[in-house]
Amino acid sequence: PSEEADPLLVHPDIRRMLLRAKALIDSSRMLSAWTALAIDRSVKDPDEKIRKANNDLVELMTPIIKSILTDYGVEISSEMLQIFGGHGYIREYGMEQFYRDARIAPIWEGTNGIQAMDLAGRKMPQGMGRLLRRFFHPALAFIEVNRGDENLKEFVIPFEKALKGLQKTSMFMAQKGLSNPYEIGAAASDYMKQFGLVSMGYMWLLMLKTAFLKQDEDDFYKNKIIIGRFFFERILPETLSRAIAIGTGSKTMMSLPDDGFESANKFSGKA
Ligand SMILES: Cc1cc2nc3c(=O)[nH]c(=O)nc-3n(C[C@H](O)[C@H](O)[C@H](O)COP(=O)(O)OP(=O)(O)OC[C@H]3O[C@@H](n4cnc5c(N)ncnc54)[C@H](O)[C@@H]3O)c2cc1C
Repeated sequence: PSEEADPLLVHPDIRRMLLRAKALIDSSRMLSAWTALAIDRSVKDPDEKIRKANNDLVELMTPIIKSILTDYGVEISSEMLQIFGGHGYIREYGMEQFYRDARIAPIWEGTNGIQAMDLAGRKMPQGMGRLLRRFFHPALAFIEVNRGDENLKEFVIPFEKALKGLQKTSMFMAQKGLSNPYEIGAAASDYMKQFGLVSMGYMWLLMLKTAFLKQDEDDFYKNKIIIGRFFFERILPETLSRAIAIGTGSKTMMSLPDDGFESANKFSGKA
């Protein structure tokens, strides 16, 4: 007890929370900058075809960026508060204010539930999947060009699986949605997360390509590779559970009768 306490950073669980935040924030910033570039191109490129293609990409990415970045903003501010322990919960250190400030973002400017419906119900079927192809095609082209890159191999292989999984989910939803409109509503939020994580994976590939080229110049790039590896090991696999959830369809969630949502109250009343 007389010795100095360990810094929190020695604990793997603290590192897990911090690395998750860094991996999500780096790819969120990249995704925003990448889409902002497409906004510029959709307005300024002299070639009308390129302007239109970029406009499609922006339309696709807008609900994704709005919702996943704000959802992760809430999750991350909550975990950063967690790292402060009890001091995070009380007012003095300002962590609870960060959390509260972040909590409005999934609600306003179109709730994230409505953004998910925009993606799954409007953007996905638009032009027989034309908007989706604006993302899928460059991502697939990147895989083809970099498949043989020794450094990138460990990232390209899981990314390809995640991307193909997203394509499969998109096809599944397009078919199911035709027979039952509840299917799209039941799948929308999970689809948003799946798409968001795959697009973050693509951003990580772009960042990692540069990081490997410059790793001997600066430790910044070496660290970037470690953070990217964490994303591929620990975050990208979440796309799998989203796909499984979507595959179960709307049946169970629509089968609970309305008064079934009240049963907890009734039970506590009798006890
Ligand atoms: C602090 C604050 C500041 C604000 N500032 C502004 C402002 O400056 N300007 C402005 O115009 N507005 C502002 N708003 C309003 C804000 O945009 C709305 O609160 C937000 O759009 C959600 O609408 P609602 O509150 O009516 O929720 P509702 O529309 O009632 O939604 C409730 C829940 O149901 C879900 N839901 C609703 N319809 C569907 C559907 N069809 N399918 C699936 N799910 C659905 C939603 O996702 C949500 O989870 C502000 C709100 C707050 C809290």
